[in-house]
Amino acid sequence: MSHKLRVGELQSIYLTEEQIWRSFTTILTTRSKKSSTYKYGLLKAMIENLYQVDDEAVVFYDQLAYSFAKIYWNLVIHHGLEQGTSGSAVVKRLIEIQREESIPEDITFDKLNATIQVKATTRIKAVMKTNVFGALYGDTQGSFYAFDHKEERFQFNRTVLTFMRKYQLLMVDLINYHMAKMIERLNDAPHINYLLEKVESIAKRSTLKPFERVLLQYTENTCFYCDKPLNKGQAKTHVDHFIPWSFVQSDQLWNLVLTCSKCNTSKKDKLPIRDFLRLVVERNEVLVVQQEIVSQDKNLKNYKEEKMIHLYEYSIQNGYENIWWPR
Ligand SMILES: [Zn+2]
Repeated sequence: MSHKLRVGELQSIYLTEEQIWRSFTTILTTRSKKSSTYKYGLLKAMIENLYQVDDEAVVFYDQLAYSFAKIYWNLVIHHGLEQGTSGSAVVKRLIEIQREESIPEDITFDKLNATIQVKATTRIKAVMKTNVFGALYGDTQGSFYAFDHKEERFQFNRTVLTFMRKYQLLMVDLINYHMAKMIERLNDAPHINYLLEKVESIAKRSTLKPFERVLLQYTENTCFYCDKPLNKGQAKTHVDHFIPWSFVQSDQLWNLVLTCSKCNTSKKDKLPIRDFLRLVVERNEVLVVQQEIVSQDKNLKNYKEEKMIHLYEYSIQNGYENIWWPR
């Protein structure tokens, strides 16, 4: 039983794209015996951490468990879709926390205070060790990643990491679709279109305010794109995902910029022209030398200029061709 494993080594280092596609579609479409949505949750957590890996393609369990806890909290508590995964260990742990702390149902994960987020992450991590890491590892014949419960270390197969970055958008859509379909089948209630919308947004934050505060401390108080001064009069400051959220599916300080409302509203889900890529790389050089924020934001520690550049290239390959500039 692969889910009982405590350590899983990589079984094949080099995989062709065809082999990865085959494994991936098999995992997505095979109905797992336990009818659990965990594999989708883990794939979504992996996608959220594609640019958080270190030089050895490693992410730590805490990072994955945070993403996983957030996804399930928003699905089960915030959207009340508990029937789909009822009785599962993840759902039980989250409901326990909600009751212990008397948290109202409509609260999204990012609105919880840091102590409760840590508590949820820690409990979910324990469940992932018994039910999640080993299971997907088994489903992929040990070819997608290696894991180690003692070191709490998760290492992507490099060819899989590259593949997931390259086809990120397509993967997100496929995972969301199959996850929604499974929840629909288990609930026999809401229609798939209604679910898909919810599933598509479960990884999304409701506010980027904390990032705004950090960025205001270390960057110019002007719009990143048009240079207009911010916080003047009625004009509100916006936090923009330089590479659109719909592509990255995560909120990293190094991908966030402060903008005026006009630029943010007109840019929406588009990619900025290449001139801004150089500017954001320069901006990040300023951020990564600030010890104070680097010590608070561990994602910034793993930031490399190449990550930003690759992300930009991959987003174009994924169809973000509608390039934007301020006018
Ligand atoms: Zn602007």
